Amino acid sequence: MSKQNKGPRKCLDCGSSRVTTKVGAYRMKLADSWAVTVQDAIITTCEGCAGVGVGFQNLDGLMRAIAAAVVAKPTRLAAEEIKFLRTHLGYSGVQLAKLLGVGPPTVSRWENGHEPIGAVPDRLLRALDVIRDGAENFDVEALAAIGDKPGTPLRLRVRIKDGVWQAAA
Ligand SMILES: [Zn+2]
Repeated sequence: MSKQNKGPRKCLDCGSSRVTTKVGAYRMKLADSWAVTVQDAIITTCEGCAGVGVGFQNLDGLMRAIAAAVVAKPTRLAAEEIKFLRTHLGYSGVQLAKLLGVGPPTVSRWENGHEPIGAVPDRLLRALDVIRDGAENFDVEALAAIGDKPGTPLRLRVRIKDGVWQAAA
């Protein structure tokens, strides 16, 4: 456990000190129709007002782990994943369109699910993430095996081990 979870706490909503913290699984919603399971979320429950709060160690590392799993998937990126990667990288739709050499409406159609992303921009978007986040575990050769069918969002479970978030089997 990290140090931040030790010591007395007070509920930010009601001021009660009857607050308990545990580590457990949490379904983190990344889009309307996509959530990933975070196994080691920090879940705080207040007995005073029954409020529940959820926090994560190393949130940036958690987002990187999700992105790494997405860019390694063997099927075409789904609409939700394209939007997730774009926002993870900190780009607007217009910025990403310029980087990928397409018009902004095209990025909108990908993200709305109105048009599947093409094979080339799919791979280029993955490469942008790998360039940004680091390529330690990225299998470049796997790009050759990405299927042509539009994919559905990844079913993913992540856990933290020795301070590092990773996809769990
Ligand atoms: Zn409370």
